[in-house]
Amino acid sequence: MEFTDEQRMLRETIRQLAEKEVAPLAYEIDRDERFPVESFNKLRDMGLLGITVPADYGGAGAGYTEMCIVTEELSAVCLSTAAAWGTHACLCIDNIRRNGNEAQLAKYLPPLCRGEWIGGLAMTEPSAGSDVMSMRLRAERRGDAYVLNGTKIFISNGPVGDVFVVYAKTAPERGAHGVTAFIVENAFPGFQRGKKFEKMGWRGSPTGELIFEDCVVPAENVLGGENRGALVLMSGLNTERVCLGAMSLGLARGAYECALKYAKERVQFGKPIASFQLIQAKLAEMAMLIELSRLITYKGAKMADMGLHREMNLTASYAKLFTARAAMKITTEAVQVLGGYGYMKEFPVERMMRDAKLQQIGGGTDEVQIMIIAREILALKDQV
Ligand SMILES: Cc1cc2nc3c(=O)[nH]c(=O)nc-3n(C[C@H](O)[C@H](O)[C@H](O)COP(=O)(O)OP(=O)(O)OC[C@H]3O[C@@H](n4cnc5c(N)ncnc54)[C@H](O)[C@@H]3O)c2cc1C
Repeated sequence: MEFTDEQRMLRETIRQLAEKEVAPLAYEIDRDERFPVESFNKLRDMGLLGITVPADYGGAGAGYTEMCIVTEELSAVCLSTAAAWGTHACLCIDNIRRNGNEAQLAKYLPPLCRGEWIGGLAMTEPSAGSDVMSMRLRAERRGDAYVLNGTKIFISNGPVGDVFVVYAKTAPERGAHGVTAFIVENAFPGFQRGKKFEKMGWRGSPTGELIFEDCVVPAENVLGGENRGALVLMSGLNTERVCLGAMSLGLARGAYECALKYAKERVQFGKPIASFQLIQAKLAEMAMLIELSRLITYKGAKMADMGLHREMNLTASYAKLFTARAAMKITTEAVQVLGGYGYMKEFPVERMMRDAKLQQIGGGTDEVQIMIIAREILALKDQV
C-alpha cells in the first residue's frame, strides 16, 4: 500500500494545486453551477487530462493509483472539479484507451488529452438507471453509418462536452448482448443537448440531457465491436467505482480537516470544543472511517494496476459503498462540529455535505453495490 517516490511527489504537487488554485474557486463554481474551466486548464497544462493514456497519444502514461491520488486531492477541496476532470479522464478517455482500435486512439486521444475536446459518457436514460441494460436508445445500421434515436439523461459534462461514449441497442431482442458503444461527437448531425439539470450538489460538474434524433454516427465509431457494448461497459465499471471511492475519500478528508481545525480553535464554556468528549468521539470516528476508506480505495487501485479487473468486483463495490457512506456520515458530522457556522456558506462543510449525497447514487447506488456484494459472496447468477 506504500506509494512510490513519484506517487508521493504527484500527491504533493496536486495538493499544492488544489489548495492554491482549486479551493479558492470552489464556492463560486458551486454557487454559479459552472464548469471549473480554470482548474481544468491547469490540469491540462500539467499533462493530466489523459492520466492513463500512453505518452504516444499525449497522455501521462500513469496508472489507476495515480488517478486516485489526483482524484483524492482535488476532492478534498472541490468535489465538482474532481467530477469534471474524472468524467473526462476516467469515464471518457480511459474508456476509449481501453477499448478503441488504433484509428480511434489516434483520432480521439490526442485532442482529448490536449483539452481541445471535453469528454463524457452516456449510459443512463429516463427509464433505465440501475437497470441500465433496459436502455431504449436505438442504433440502426444504414450503409456505412448507424442512426441513433433516443435520449440520455443525467450526463456529467453533457452541457459542455464535445465527445461522448454512448451506449445504444443495436439488437434489442438480444438484451445485454445487443448493446453497442459508440464514440459520438457533438458535431454529428442529429445530436442535440437537452436541458441542464439544477442539482443539490456536484453543482460545478454540469449535468445534462443528450437527445439523438436521427443522429448519424459513422460505423468506424463503434467502440469495442457491434453488440459488445456490455463488455465495454464492464471493462470500466470496477475502476470507475474505485475512482468514485477516491472522490468520497478526498471529500471526507476535506470535511474532517475543516472540523478538526475548527474544534481546536472554537472556545465554548471556556475551553476549545475539541476538549469535550462528545466532539472527540465524532473526530475519532471520522479519522477511523477515513483510514479505512483509504485502505480499501488504494487496494482497489492497486488491483486495477495489476490488471486484476475480473477479480476485483468485491473490492470495487466495497470501496464504492464504504467510502460513500463514510463521506455522507463525515460531512454531516463536520457540519455538526461547526454548529451554526457549519450551516453557513462561509465554511465549505455545508457544500461538502450536499456533494456527499451523490456519492451514494451515481456510478451505481448503495443498493446496487450491496446487491453486487451479495451476488459475489453467494455466487448468485441472476442479479446485477
Ligand atoms: C449528478 C449525477 C451525475 C450523473 N452522471 C452520469 C453520467 O455521466 N453518465 C451516466 O450514464 N449516468 C450518470 N448519472 C446517472 C446515475 O448513474 C444514476 O442516477 C444511477 O445509476 C441511479 O439510477 P436512477 O437515478 O435511475 O435510479 P433508479 O435506478 O431508478 O433507482 C431508484 C432507487 O431504487 C433503488 N433500486 C433500483 N433497483 C433496485 C433493486 N433491484 N433492488 C433494490 N433497490 C433498487 C436504487 O438504489 C435507488 O435507491 C448521474 C446521476 C447524477 C445524479
